[in-house]
Amino acid sequence: MATYTPMMQQYLKIKAEYEDAFLFFRLGDFYEMFFEDAVNASQELEITLTSRDGGSSERIPMCGVPYHSAPNYIEQLIQKGYKVAICEQTEDPKQAKGVVRREVVQLITPGTVMEGKGVSEKENNFLVSVTVLEDGFGFAVADVTTGENSVTKTERFDEVLNEIYSLGAKEAVIESTMAEDFQKQMRDRCGVAVSYENEDSVEGEALSLLHPISSPDLKRSFARLFHYMIRTQKRSLEHLQEVQQYELSSFLKMDLYSKRNLELTETIRSTGKKGSLLWLLDETKTAMGGRLLKQWMDRPLIDRRKIEERLEMTEVLLQKFFEREDIREGLKEVYDLERLAGRVAYGNVNARDLIQLKKSLQRIPSLTELVKALEHPFAEKLAEKMDPCESLEELLEASLVEQPPISVKEGNMMKDGYNSQLDQYRDAGRNGKTWIAELEASERERTGIRSLKVGYNRVFGYYIEITRANLHLLPEGTYERKQTLTNAERFITPDLKEKEALILEAEDNMSQLEYELFLGLREQVREFIPRLQSLAKCISELDVLQCFAAVSDKRRYTRPVFSDGEMDITGGRHPVVEKVLQTQEYVPNDCRMGNEMERSILLITGPNMSGKSTYMRQVALTAILAQIGCFVPAEKAVLPVFDQIFTRIGAADDLISGQSTFMVEMLEARNAIVHATGKSLILFDEIGRGTSTYDGMALAQAMIEYIHNHIGAKTLFSTHYHELTVLDQALKSLSNVHVRAVERNGRVVFLHKIAEGPADKSYGIHVAELAELPAELIQRAQEILEKLEKQPKPSQENAPEPPAAVHDEEAQLSFFAEGNPRKKRKQDAGDHSLKSALLELNLLE
Ligand code: ADP
Repeated sequence: MATYTPMMQQYLKIKAEYEDAFLFFRLGDFYEMFFEDAVNASQELEITLTSRDGGSSERIPMCGVPYHSAPNYIEQLIQKGYKVAICEQTEDPKQAKGVVRREVVQLITPGTVMEGKGVSEKENNFLVSVTVLEDGFGFAVADVTTGENSVTKTERFDEVLNEIYSLGAKEAVIESTMAEDFQKQMRDRCGVAVSYENEDSVEGEALSLLHPISSPDLKRSFARLFHYMIRTQKRSLEHLQEVQQYELSSFLKMDLYSKRNLELTETIRSTGKKGSLLWLLDETKTAMGGRLLKQWMDRPLIDRRKIEERLEMTEVLLQKFFEREDIREGLKEVYDLERLAGRVAYGNVNARDLIQLKKSLQRIPSLTELVKALEHPFAEKLAEKMDPCESLEELLEASLVEQPPISVKEGNMMKDGYNSQLDQYRDAGRNGKTWIAELEASERERTGIRSLKVGYNRVFGYYIEITRANLHLLPEGTYERKQTLTNAERFITPDLKEKEALILEAEDNMSQLEYELFLGLREQVREFIPRLQSLAKCISELDVLQCFAAVSDKRRYTRPVFSDGEMDITGGRHPVVEKVLQTQEYVPNDCRMGNEMERSILLITGPNMSGKSTYMRQVALTAILAQIGCFVPAEKAVLPVFDQIFTRIGAADDLISGQSTFMVEMLEARNAIVHATGKSLILFDEIGRGTSTYDGMALAQAMIEYIHNHIGAKTLFSTHYHELTVLDQALKSLSNVHVRAVERNGRVVFLHKIAEGPADKSYGIHVAELAELPAELIQRAQEILEKLEKQPKPSQENAPEPPAAVHDEEAQLSFFAEGNPRKKRKQDAGDHSLKSALLELNLLE
């Protein structure tokens, strides 16, 4: 180290504290990177790698970016999951003795970026922390852009992963001693960057934020996150809100597979929003509302009273069309108050932001009136909470001009009359300018040169300009010659220079004073942060509710009615498929499932592409919409309040590399079988397809039996194993339904209509024909089918066509287990070995 120049020594010392980040080292107008950082950054950012002499024998690799374009480069690195430490010169280089003092002023990480492409308007940027406790995991969440904070606890690590996934967190903060396996799962399954923070003491500012929390474990969990935020942001974060505790059990649970499968907030094929339920629903008018909508979708409710409260408001807003339209118009004018509060705390708002804040506040009284005009107790309650922050509005009205510049250092932000000192400077400046205007007029008069003009430039200041053609009219020695141009001469006079000095001084003073006044104003706005945040909450809630009403109105949704277990959907539709279908009308379908154990499993058969999985998804999406408080796509819907939804649908490409499709299928099935209750909804689409026929069919049957006998969850089970349809004989709460298709002129036509009973024929060959496989091949398939059909068939009284692998007594007996104690025992044994086999797939916990 000793051989390095003093500046390189300083660099190495600072870099040692930020091993895991790119160190942007400020050198004049550039941020420079050295050594490894330079090599890596030049690759990641595609910038030129150079080198410099740093005192040692070898040259030091170096690359750099100009400071004014740094945000762009920082953003690229953050988006790739890196961290960037910003190291500034913290003393005036002119004053410095020796090397200029430098310090890291902020560590930007994927979970703490405040702005840029990585921070999308309608999404939170959540940072989470996970703390291993004696009896589970502490989980804390914060968003530095909005100041929201919350904590919860869970016994299961898979729930931690679900939370990380559904929050879309990009970074997880943990203790460095956390087991490597946990860390790996977070990285691989949820794609988060993992950061370490071992400090978890609860004191000072953290303590006051933790006021509502009583559990010491939860306090510690949040404290870890808090210390990390402070350590990286290096400033006091006044916009952080009090920590809220939430219970995972107060919300409808869905594992991350199910959320993905149901395409709630993004589609399976892409990571984009388009085509998802969120895409369909998002009629919010504010960024805050957009974020809350996503939060609500990630956490449907299970408390009937709370659900009804939202539904009630949705209904009121739906009925009052004119008020709703006016509310929507009003909301458009409301700026992102939450993120604005965050930026105020960070000290990076400008006068334009504050003007937008003022305009937003000016909308609040009329919005409040509109909410009151809904004439409903819930609306009244909301209206009462809407705080227009009048004194802040007045302050901003009195201080700032309507169209201030972006820069806060060049003046022209403050109104006349706001500050008397500023007014005096302005008068001086204006007087000077009037004097100059008068000078121009009087000199034209005096010299008779009509084109004489007074101008200004940065180098020479004010001057009198006379075109070459008119120079002869000017008596020699009238003015002092200053600059010669091709077509004109420029002159000055002592009086002009004197005025100029006054004007420039006034302008300097003005911008300096305005900057100070602006900082003062910003401090005053800071005081309003908590009030702005609670106003933001009301506005976002109103926005989401009007969005529910607008969508429900536009798409003819109905208000669901809740039951104690029964489900009765008449004319239900899949909300997204309905919207995207172009050439065809969506065919509505009913779904009836009973209370308790009556008709709790529907076995759905029908040809491929007939609409089985669409039907299953439509039921789940209907339940979810209802439980977030929105109306549902149906003519009529009676629904139970589900506690959990599990799905195994389609061939989801999995995050876990190297998992076979079948393994994923089994993992998802296991999740349902281990955790579902009688109040859950299970969707199994073509379970067992990923393995050999007999294997798959045996598993499918065993799962149905297990759910039937031990869980009692409402289950929609689609299958192409036609053989399973006889299960309704043995399993009392299983019913067959099928999707209807008809043959017309030897071709299959899907009606997409669900009907009672099993499908009677496989249309596979016709589908193959539709897909235009060669005629010869189709014909050959027809022949084979006919041959197979001539073989002895299972009758209704008998077990299904016995496939070899399950031909033994054991597998078939279970159909008739009831009433036969010996056989019943065997069946139970079968169930348990299924459960233990599934439990052995112990990859999630
Ligand atoms: P399956 O699961 O039986 O293979 P899908 O549910 O994937 O079939 O449906 C196939 C296609 O049929 C869907 O992409 C959709 O376009 C159309 N479809 C499904 N259900 C309906 C319906 N009820 N009304 C109109 N079209 C439908």
